[in-house]
Amino acid sequence: MAEKPPEEEVFCGTPASRGIAFGPVHVAARGFSAPNVYEIPEDGLKLEKGRLTAAFDITRQQLASLKTKIDEVAGGDEGLVFEAHGMVLDDPSLQTKVELAIENRKQNAEYCFYAVMQTVLEAMRRISDPYLRERTIDIEDVSQRVLRNFEASTNIIGLDHQHLFVAHDLTPSDTASMDRSKLLGFVTEEGSVNSHTAILARALGIPAIVGLGKVVVEITALAPAIVDGYSGKFIVHPSEETTKYYRSLANRKREQRKALEELRDQESTTKDGRHITLSANIEFTHELDLVQDNRAEGVGLFRTEFFLLETGYPPTEKNQTETYTELAKRTGSHPAIIRTLDSGGDKLSVEPLTEPEPNPFLGWRGIRVSLDRPDFFKEQLRAILRASAHGKLGMMFPFISGVSEIQRCQALVKECMAELEAEGCKFDADLEIGAMIEIPSAVLVADEIAQEVDFFSIGTNDLIQYTVAVDRINNRVAKLYRSTHPAVIRMIKMTTDAASRAGIWTGICGEMAADLSLTPLLVGLGVDELSVGPHEVAPVRKALLSVDFGECKALAQKALAMPTSAEIYHLSHEAAKAAYPDLIDEDE
Ligand code: PEP
Ligand code: MG
Repeated sequence: MAEKPPEEEVFCGTPASRGIAFGPVHVAARGFSAPNVYEIPEDGLKLEKGRLTAAFDITRQQLASLKTKIDEVAGGDEGLVFEAHGMVLDDPSLQTKVELAIENRKQNAEYCFYAVMQTVLEAMRRISDPYLRERTIDIEDVSQRVLRNFEASTNIIGLDHQHLFVAHDLTPSDTASMDRSKLLGFVTEEGSVNSHTAILARALGIPAIVGLGKVVVEITALAPAIVDGYSGKFIVHPSEETTKYYRSLANRKREQRKALEELRDQESTTKDGRHITLSANIEFTHELDLVQDNRAEGVGLFRTEFFLLETGYPPTEKNQTETYTELAKRTGSHPAIIRTLDSGGDKLSVEPLTEPEPNPFLGWRGIRVSLDRPDFFKEQLRAILRASAHGKLGMMFPFISGVSEIQRCQALVKECMAELEAEGCKFDADLEIGAMIEIPSAVLVADEIAQEVDFFSIGTNDLIQYTVAVDRINNRVAKLYRSTHPAVIRMIKMTTDAASRAGIWTGICGEMAADLSLTPLLVGLGVDELSVGPHEVAPVRKALLSVDFGECKALAQKALAMPTSAEIYHLSHEAAKAAYPDLIDEDE
């Protein structure tokens, strides 16, 4: 009898990066990483069961000899832990379960063992008894040992193929180090839209969904699936009908994209002639191709922490100079604004901390780290200055909370300039220097900060989290993370007003700049620049071309008097829908 195809399953999460991706899933579970998975023909299943028994036997022997050794050295109860580990393997139902999985899944023994153990571990993590819950560590430990005892195998399908990645959570460095040529899309159980992981996914143009809840244990490796990065649906074993629907949606989006690309040589100017600089946010120099393809007006934010953390710590002045010089040369007449190191928060720290911080987002982050490590900071400043001789560069400082920090930064820049002059090294003494406005205290003293800098760049990702006290990566409170909260809107206006009083410009480089529903509002609040992920440049350009600055100003005026985020969002969203309905997809 023909086997019934598996039923379609739909999981819903939060869309984190737009796009549709189709492919087989690769599952990386919590606790320890998944072994490679490969298919086993019917006549190979017996051999797999034999491999399982062998791996169990070797593990038992190892545990017994470990116990003997520890008993000899310690002589107390310490060795008992290994006896307990051995008992896990002696449970006959475990071997039966794995053997059944081998028969049903027709996959290699180590992967089936891994999948069974994941289910056991997940069940244990939900137990309320703390003693039993703690035993998950023992089970994880013995599982890892068994996995190591399987022989290495050939004929691996796993990660050599293009795949959709399913994980409990990903750190920004996991995302940055993935092989992008194989990664079609990803979904995570945890995570939120404003985490750096999601920002990176958008920058790379990889469809992604976060906050799916428990999915890892329910998904079989290599199952065909679809990531819908528009609605946040993750569909495993899609039916023919679903696949057809998504193929046609993907085609429609491709056509829409092509139409947008036709506008790429047009200036990003409103219907009544106000030019808004439209630049790009990047993390790596290889993204400069995208910046150029999309005709962004330079780079509004180069997040240096990703490449610096990738190259290893401490990065040398020389290798930084090379990277910044490439940036300077390739952005031509448009400036590339380099943000000095912003480590900490949800990004890796540049140096190992002896103790984890209780509140990393309120801790040793951004400019605080640089000012505490002036020698390292000066290497970065000198590297930027050296590179400024080769093209138009700017620099800005993250996480500024008040005037004295920016004054200390400026003093260090001056020191670096003097050092380079003494060396006879050329640099651009007039390069623009800015402050990121992303902490409410900086907004309140923006008039004073404006006296010290050439521009402001509003980091709304952080400004929102610090204004409404909502952790940007905590999915549980994601609903409260509102970019149109009246306090946020008023802070943006206070910043643009302070900048105009001082005769300097203001940009927005947070993710809010790419929210097409908010373009009318942001233009009306008086920003001079929007800096967005390279893939967002084309739609934002179309939005800017479609709005009228006079009307946007009137809209912003109204919004500033509104009491709730829902009303402000609705006002701008309706204006956006009227101006460029094709870009505002109601079903997304
Ligand atoms: C921001 O906070 O808006 C910003 C652009 O910086 P990051 O997301 O890197 O913190
Ligand atoms: Mg920030």
